[in-house]
Amino acid sequence: MPLYQEQTIKVHNSLTGKKETFIPINEGHIGMYVCGPTVYSNVHLGNCRTFMSFDMIFRYFRHLGYKVRYVRNITDAGHLVDDAEDGEDKIAKKARLEQLEPMEVVQRYTVDFHNILEKFNFLPPSIEPTATGHIIEQIEIIKDILEKGYAYEVNGSVYFDVVKFNETNEYGKLSGRKLEDMIANTRELTAQDDKKSPQDFALWKKAEPEHIMRWPSPWGDGFPGWHLECTAMSTKYLGETFDIHGGGMDLKFPHHECEIAQAEASNGKSPVKYWMHANMLTLNGKKMAKSTGNSILPGEIFSGENDILSKPFSPGMVRFFMMQAHYTSILDISNDALLASEKGFNKLMDSIKSINSLPIGSKSDFDAPSWRQACYDAMNDDFNTPILIAKLFDAVKHINLIKEGSETITKEDKEILFDTMKSFVFDVLGLEDKQSSNADSEKLSGVVELLIQLRKEARENKDFATSDKIRDQLAELGIQLKDGKEGTTYSL
Ligand SMILES: [Zn+2]
Repeated sequence: MPLYQEQTIKVHNSLTGKKETFIPINEGHIGMYVCGPTVYSNVHLGNCRTFMSFDMIFRYFRHLGYKVRYVRNITDAGHLVDDAEDGEDKIAKKARLEQLEPMEVVQRYTVDFHNILEKFNFLPPSIEPTATGHIIEQIEIIKDILEKGYAYEVNGSVYFDVVKFNETNEYGKLSGRKLEDMIANTRELTAQDDKKSPQDFALWKKAEPEHIMRWPSPWGDGFPGWHLECTAMSTKYLGETFDIHGGGMDLKFPHHECEIAQAEASNGKSPVKYWMHANMLTLNGKKMAKSTGNSILPGEIFSGENDILSKPFSPGMVRFFMMQAHYTSILDISNDALLASEKGFNKLMDSIKSINSLPIGSKSDFDAPSWRQACYDAMNDDFNTPILIAKLFDAVKHINLIKEGSETITKEDKEILFDTMKSFVFDVLGLEDKQSSNADSEKLSGVVELLIQLRKEARENKDFATSDKIRDQLAELGIQLKDGKEGTTYSL
């Protein structure tokens, strides 16, 4: 029996504002879409936190035995500066400033994004589609929305008619806004504006002659509006209605609101069963912004090269720090908070390593099965990682008491303790103890170097039996020695 049949998950659904029992559309399968990065600069630590929250959620579903199709896109066109309706494409602007091809910008920052996520031990999504790879699908949706009467074409651009849509549907239901209030609070359109109402948003924008990122369409050369790509890619890979759509809190309006409108206008269905939003990361109590200097890049945390920090912190430790807050709460990062967290992280890792050597007793002072269920209960309650971590530290306390001899544990309970700790710490929270694996690889290379030296001495003494034995037995362990002019090297 898969684990998911024994556990009931509740998720906070941003659409209803309530915690709801999670029931996937197709039993045993989950479709999850998360808005990915716009790749025009190095990935922001706050974005890493959002993606990390969904990586943890993805990991927990997989741990429970669900088959998850996790789609996280790459925005490589259409996202305009300041998320505005007019203005330059973020990627085209960067390309102009740095005198690069837009696709060079995209490649550079996609690679950066993947490198950072790999350091943080993210699992890759099942599909990572790009906006530019789905222009045809986007054009098809625009045609569909035009046909249904919820969009209009002006001078080579196509706009979504929010007022018309709101007559039959509810624009603003995700963000809790009312269209009347939105209209009352916006200034009048200027004469040169193509839009009928300020709330209308672009599905397709005409490309001015200087605009380099352009595609042909039935309405002339142009490029898709930013909101459209997510509707196109989520529908293509997950269907017209799917289980979970996630993203940062800042995307709720207008981006996700517009996604709902586009999907409902084109196929008449509400696209998503559970909307989930991750909260932001602040630095020293203030919003992060490059312009004020109150900003830190992931790479700077790992290297310690930022005045805000007194030392470098490992990616695993930073991940642990982020997991200590619930994904819907604001988390503040500071040097002191990281230092405090590091102590806890090291204690947890040391504790896991000591479980195997715990003595076995005839009775348990530690009720491992109830503790294991308490760990699941924490995660089942809207992925409450801070409560889970508190439960893990309950176990750490018992491990120490057993080590001291003040408590005992049976063989069965020790096995449950070890398996559960490993599952939640490594598989679900995705923590890695890189420090010790670095130390291990240093030790390994020291040992291999020593054997290379002993082999060299054996050969100098014409003791070929010994030198061959060293080479062959290392080869059996998967370590290949290579003799060259510069001496002997090895590879794993
Ligand atoms: Zn999106």
